[in-house]
Amino acid sequence: MKKVEYIIVGQGVAGSCMAMKLLQEKKSFVMIDNHFHKASAIAAGIFNPVVLKRFSIVWNATKQIERLREVFGDFEQLLNKKYIYNFPVYRIFNDEQEKKTWLKKATTHPDLIDYLATNTEQLNDFSSINSQIGSGEVLHTGRVDLTNLLADFKNYLFENDLFIDETFDFNELKLKDNQTSYKNIETTKIIFAEGYNILNNPYFKNLPIIGVKGEVLKIKTEANLPEAVVKGKEFLMPLESNQYFVGATYDRDSVNYEITDEAKEYLVNGVKQFLNEEVEVVEQHASIRPTVIDRRPIIGAHPTYQQLICLNGMGTRGTMLAPVMVDELYQFLENNQPIDKETDITRFYDRF
Ligand SMILES: Cc1cc2nc3c(=O)[nH]c(=O)nc-3n(C[C@H](O)[C@H](O)[C@H](O)COP(=O)(O)OP(=O)(O)OC[C@H]3O[C@@H](n4cnc5c(N)ncnc54)[C@H](O)[C@@H]3O)c2cc1C
Repeated sequence: MKKVEYIIVGQGVAGSCMAMKLLQEKKSFVMIDNHFHKASAIAAGIFNPVVLKRFSIVWNATKQIERLREVFGDFEQLLNKKYIYNFPVYRIFNDEQEKKTWLKKATTHPDLIDYLATNTEQLNDFSSINSQIGSGEVLHTGRVDLTNLLADFKNYLFENDLFIDETFDFNELKLKDNQTSYKNIETTKIIFAEGYNILNNPYFKNLPIIGVKGEVLKIKTEANLPEAVVKGKEFLMPLESNQYFVGATYDRDSVNYEITDEAKEYLVNGVKQFLNEEVEVVEQHASIRPTVIDRRPIIGAHPTYQQLICLNGMGTRGTMLAPVMVDELYQFLENNQPIDKETDITRFYDRF
């Protein structure tokens, strides 16, 4: 029997941040992933502390962005590649009232002063963009290139004999009082970071995870655009050589992994509302966000089998949430520190 302290199931952004933490803390582990559908790999990876609909601050945003920079910076060092790209987010105003609200919050709201800029004419030089009323600039924002990071990190784990490419088979899981094994691996804890697929996990399937399907496009355009996310009805995010990411749809009704013509049309029309140039769609992807009814992640131990651990519910913001959730879970696992009530799985123990 091989012995490890942890098995992690799921190599999305949550499982990968957990693996990074265990590497840093010199804990032994193996990662199991089947690459079935990884929401993290198609996500834009945008980090933005401001809710662009209401101009309000994201829960715990400052702490999350601070840890995001440290943790994804650690990935950059380990894998010797750049993954964090800093650029602003420009939110195009729909009317004068929005502009007034933005400027008021940017100058008086204690949580937002550091994040909302007051210059509303930044997009004026870009004739391809309709922004007659102006736009608000969010500061301290950017993107983590999760697609490349996760692929590179998988290779790293594989080369170091820490990666098993398979679907976790629950028939092979043996749980005794204080001993846990999976196939020929003995472990102390198994961390399930399965994203939306946790609903197929017999131990955690009753958690209130709500799948929200998202479709995204990669487009090509000759338009002269800023090195920034531009958010009108949809958002445009620069990639390489005149290519841009366009996203995203939010669908709670048809929750599956299929790409659709309806979503393509919807996204292209959304972009055309503020972009006066032709766009060519070069790629389309779909996946499912694991959201939670109370909009907070779910971390902690199974009520009966305390060696089975849940790391889930990253919702629409896994890039910002995963690093801090991993810190919190690690402190719980290794140092018996209590988990914040807002994210603790115990709030759903009545469902087991
Ligand atoms: C279209 C779209 C755009 C998004 N844009 C952003 C964005 O810009 N910024 C942001 O912060 N967030 C964004 N998100 C949300 C973000 O993608 C999620 O919060 C995050 O990816 C969830 O990560 P995860 O690790 O929990 O799950 P996932 O990334 O889904 O990873 C789970 C992994 O577990 C594996 N797995 C599951 N079950 C098993 C099993 N039994 N055996 C083996 N392997 C298994 C899966 O194959 C997968 O690889 C977006 C999501 C979508 C869909």
